[in-house]
Amino acid sequence: MDAPVMTNLPRIHRQRRAAPADIQRPTRAEINLAHLRHNLHIARQYAGQSKIWGVLKADAYGHGSPAVGRTLERAGIDGLCVALIEEAIELRDAGIRLPILVMGGCYGSGWNEIIEHHLTPVLFDPSHIENLARTLTLRDEPTINVHVKVDTGMSRLGARPDALEPILRALKDNPRIRLTGMMTHLANADANSLESVEAQCAVFDESVRRVRQAGFQPTTLHASNSAGLLRAPSAHYDAIRPGIALFGVSPVDDLTIDLKPVMKVRSEVVSLRTVTKGDSVGYCSTWIADRTSRIATIPMGYADGLPRSLSNRGRVLIRGKAAPIAGNVSMDLITVDVTEHEGVSIGDEVILLGNQAGTLGSDEISTLELANLADTITWEILTGISRRVPRFIREP
Ligand SMILES: *Cc1c(COP(=O)(O)O)cnc(C)c1O
Repeated sequence: MDAPVMTNLPRIHRQRRAAPADIQRPTRAEINLAHLRHNLHIARQYAGQSKIWGVLKADAYGHGSPAVGRTLERAGIDGLCVALIEEAIELRDAGIRLPILVMGGCYGSGWNEIIEHHLTPVLFDPSHIENLARTLTLRDEPTINVHVKVDTGMSRLGARPDALEPILRALKDNPRIRLTGMMTHLANADANSLESVEAQCAVFDESVRRVRQAGFQPTTLHASNSAGLLRAPSAHYDAIRPGIALFGVSPVDDLTIDLKPVMKVRSEVVSLRTVTKGDSVGYCSTWIADRTSRIATIPMGYADGLPRSLSNRGRVLIRGKAAPIAGNVSMDLITVDVTEHEGVSIGDEVILLGNQAGTLGSDEISTLELANLADTITWEILTGISRRVPRFIREP
């Protein structure tokens, strides 16, 4: 049989994030690991005696899970939490040896992977326990640690308090599964009033009491996200699960606290033109020049995670000064009005998220500003920065 002729076929590259050597486009997210360590330090101050289990779901809120995980591990964090088994495996593949809690509740047929990668699953249904027990037996594994989740008011995941009995029975029947932790999740830790937090904690405390009464000794109780960490010491328990605060963004808009943003998104001016009065800019001609204007084009669009709702609303920084987005945000590009920017030229640095100091001033675009303008929350802005924006790790 003839061997296939391969010589002139293009190589097929595996899908992956662009590595620095691949990219031609100047758009990138810079990840500042010193700021990450600083934020962990702040979190520790608030946590007091409680441990910190950093939440690295969704690729560490878009920051790049392996680098973030390794940095936090070296800085002495106590554990990590993710939503998905595959997110946990990515951390294990990156060499992380910390305990990793898988919180998302979607285990499918992934019990083997949970055992193999030494992950700690969050269970809240007797079927979880039966399936895990069967897999343990098949693999002849001695024991596994698990946490049980109680739904104390979020009504999303977790066992309702009145549904704990069958779970405890299943645990009794399967002593290889060791209940080492109990958790719940707060719905309103960022609200002005902490009434809801207190109500949820009361339900949680009662559930813990019943579990202990049944003869179990969970040693790690946890309930707080970043907002709980910063605002609700009574909800700290043994461990805290901060996500957004580690990335330098306050979970509460009006809280002044010394967090440092870990992500900065920058690009460059790639094209410049002069338009005259009456000319339109961009799709649907939503921006019309009312005078002779300079328009700069920046290669970042909604497919990169810059919300399209920033059309004619958002701004970028060039030479330290704000330039308003002119026209609709495109998939790959935006256009900004630089008429008031003296001396702008192709190749000038453009900041889409973060601070900049330049010849024309100094300013900052925060994640909160983008979230407010786009009518969303900071979590969605950070996790929305898409995979085609390469992450550059900065280790100053
Ligand atoms: C995402 C998440 C957190 C972290 O929330 P932040 O507000 O980002 O601190 C904590 N616990 C659970 C269960 C989560 O899903």
